[in-house]
Amino acid sequence: MSQAVLILIKPDGLKKSLTGNILTRLSETKLEIVAAKMVRVTDKLAQEHYKHLKDKPFFSELVKYVKGELHDRRKVMALIYWGNDAIEKCRDLAGATNPEQAEPTSIRGSYGRILTSGLYENVIHVSSNEAEAEREIKLWFLPEEIIVDLYPVKEITIRDLKRQDWD
Ligand code: UDP
Ligand code: MG
Repeated sequence: MSQAVLILIKPDGLKKSLTGNILTRLSETKLEIVAAKMVRVTDKLAQEHYKHLKDKPFFSELVKYVKGELHDRRKVMALIYWGNDAIEKCRDLAGATNPEQAEPTSIRGSYGRILTSGLYENVIHVSSNEAEAEREIKLWFLPEEIIVDLYPVKEITIRDLKRQDWD
């Protein structure tokens, strides 16, 4: 069954120059990339993305991590992969959340580490199920940024919208 999954290359993945490597690994899945962009992560986006963990002791450090404050890289790469069993295929390649428990050849097993604080610095994010994928994709992307129709949309008219354009 075709599914969409949100992938984030986290700031440590970018800092370690792993983008090409990670995309090559993910291409083994034969899934289709239907959206991709660099994102400067705001506090609001980070907190909303990880809201299921807001009561954990590591939450505030996790928010700093995904914002890039631990790596002096204030950006992440966000992608949507789409195709058969996309979530399971991508999570298998990513490996377990704890990089020390992750299969050594997985992305997290190869490149992740545990900080002295205990936080898992694990290179990529992969949505964990279909409901989470939909919630996350709607948080990170606008419908017009995705080249297939994933979810129902509505038309809205925005009056007096100010935005930048090429000069
Ligand atoms: N995390 C952590 N310690 C934990 C659990 C999670 O540092 O005990 C971090 C880790 O970076 C992880 C993220 O919080 O990727 C989100 O946690 P989740 O349980 O959703 O794991 P994931 O879906 O990323 O495998
Ligand atoms: Mg998760």
